[in-house]
Order: sequence, then structure tokens, then C-alpha cells
Amino acid sequence: MKIIVTGGAGFIGSNLAEELMKRHEVTVIDDLSTGRIENLESIMSRIDFIRGSITDLELLKREFAGADTIFHQAAIASVQSSVDNPVASNEANISGTLNVLVAARDCKVRKVVYASSSAAYGNDPVLPKREEMRPNPLSPYAVSKLAGEYYCQAFSEVYGLKTACLRYFNVYGPRQDPNSQYAAVIPRFITRILAGKAPVIYGDGEQTRDFAFVQDVVKANILAMEGPAEGVFNVACGCRVSLNELAAKIMRITKMSIAPVYEAARPGDVRDSLADISRARRELGYEPEYDLEMGLEKTVEWFAKHR
Ligand code: NAD
Repeated sequence: MKIIVTGGAGFIGSNLAEELMKRHEVTVIDDLSTGRIENLESIMSRIDFIRGSITDLELLKREFAGADTIFHQAAIASVQSSVDNPVASNEANISGTLNVLVAARDCKVRKVVYASSSAAYGNDPVLPKREEMRPNPLSPYAVSKLAGEYYCQAFSEVYGLKTACLRYFNVYGPRQDPNSQYAAVIPRFITRILAGKAPVIYGDGEQTRDFAFVQDVVKANILAMEGPAEGVFNVACGCRVSLNELAAKIMRITKMSIAPVYEAARPGDVRDSLADISRARRELGYEPEYDLEMGLEKTVEWFAKHR
């Protein structure tokens, strides 16, 4: 089958494209704004790579012709960058998603699987987060991801386009960028610890996160493509760990011993995060295979090799 991965040169998209190309004909569309061509190095000769933007509707209509499924991963994927530039975030994440859906409808694509975010839940203290809870987007990024979900729902209703929205929690794994100013916590911790430097923790380190290993996220996407389920699904591990515990686990795996450095808490940071993944279990057949230790070991191994 012909499959499209938007944002396929990014962290999650490249891991997804690598798995999909084993059985399908894969086209990656990416403007390389945060993604890297090196992420596709090992599969470049076996996929079609189109450097282009999801803001270009004509390009999408051309490339989606004959496609069965679109995995829509492309986005400006950071809360802070949306705070710095909400217009750019809106353009890529909302207008871009609308374009993807319009092109999918016009090309009679069977299903769109959309990368949404747990940011939609905001700072509601109730845990675990369930999909039926009222969304509470607190950043332009969260608004944009939620708007994408609503567009997916509307296109299912109005045009009969099948859509599944996967609300990723904190995803980690090989190829996640440790260097951008918006880098996520696990690649930042790992690269600093491997370099013999102290990990930097904002706040007291007792804030908790539900981390999902990227291979589990890839699996959730493929299950969403293969099954009939539509709607919104949490994709996470379903367990949480504090940043202090996370730093200690990475120390154990890397056999390092460096005390973290604590800096002021960042305004707007969510205190605790935990997903209820029972809907994904029930309707997608999703079951995380990697616990945090296993996922961290694979991630540390990758970063040690690619330093
Ligand atoms: P990433 O930045 O590595 O990947 C995003 C990709 O989209 C990049 O390759 C980038 O170049 C591309 N892109 C951006 N704007 C584009 C445009 N206009 N046209 C074409 N390509 C464009 O980020 P990621 O962590 O792999 O995130 C993938 C998706 O998952 C995003 O939609 C993000 O919002 C969502 N998500 C990620 C996480 C996480 O923990 N990483 C959590 C929740 C949701």
C-alpha cells in the first residue's frame, strides 16, 4: 500500500517511516524545519522523500494520489516555540492539518492517523487523564493540536473520511533532538550525563511524567491504521515517574554519578501527567511493550553511539 508520513524526517515520523517501509511503499513529506535528512539515512534509497510543506495544498493533493493512509506527524512540535511565535504555530499546525485533511478527502484516502498531544489536557490536577475529560489547552501549541483533532472529527462526520487522533504523552527514544532550544527532558538528560555534566532540573524534580517509548508509539500508529477504530486515543505508558527518579535511572544505566542541578521552575509547566490508556487497549489493541528501563537502555545505547 502507498502510505504517506508527513513530518517523516522528524523524531517520531522517521521511526514510523522506518517500520512502515518494511511492508509498504512510503512517501515522506517534510520541510526539514526541525527534522533532519540524516534521520532517514538508512531508508532513503527505499522511500520517496519530498521536501515540501503541509501548507502547500497543491503539493499534498499531488502526493496523496493513490495513498491508503496518511500518518500526519508534521507540526511545529513545541510549546515554547508556539509561545514565541503563535502565528507560525497556527499556520503549520492548524492550517497545515486542514490542508492534509482536504487533500486526503479529495484523493479518497482511506484513513488519516493524526499525531495529537496530551497538551490538550492542560493543568487539570485530575489523574489519570481520560479522553472524555474536558480539554483545557493552555498554550498556542495545545490549541493547535486540539484544533487538529476537531478538524479530524469534523471530516469524519461531514465527508466520511476515517480519522484516528493519537494523543501522545511524553515520547522518547532514538533520534530525538537533544540540541534544539526546545529539547525534551530525556535526550537533554542523557546527552549531558554521557558528557559528564549535571542534568538540569527545573523546579524540585518531583513533577511527574508518563513517558512512552517511540517504538510503542509507532505500534499504536500502525494499529490505528489497521483497525477500524476512530476518535481520540491516549498513547502513553500508563505509568509515571518523577524527574528525580528519571535522572537516577539514567545514572544507573550510564554508570555515572552526578548530582542534578536545580533551577527555577518554568512557568506553565504541567505538574503531573499520567494517561489512562484503557481506550487504546480496548479499541486499538494497544499494549506498551517497553517499560521505562528497557526504553531508556535502548535510548542511551543510541545516544552513546551517535554522540
Ligand atoms: P519533530 O520536530 O522531530 O518532528 C516534526 C517534523 O515535522 C519535523 O521533521 C519537521 O521538519 C516537520 N515539519 C514541521 N513543519 C512542517 C511543515 N509545515 N511541513 C512539513 N513538515 C513540517 O517532532 P516529533 O517529536 O517527532 O513530533 C511529531 C508529532 O508528534 C508532532 O505532530 C507533535 O506535535 C506530536 N507530539 C510529539 C510529542 C513528543 O513527545 N515528541 C508529544 C505529543 C505530540
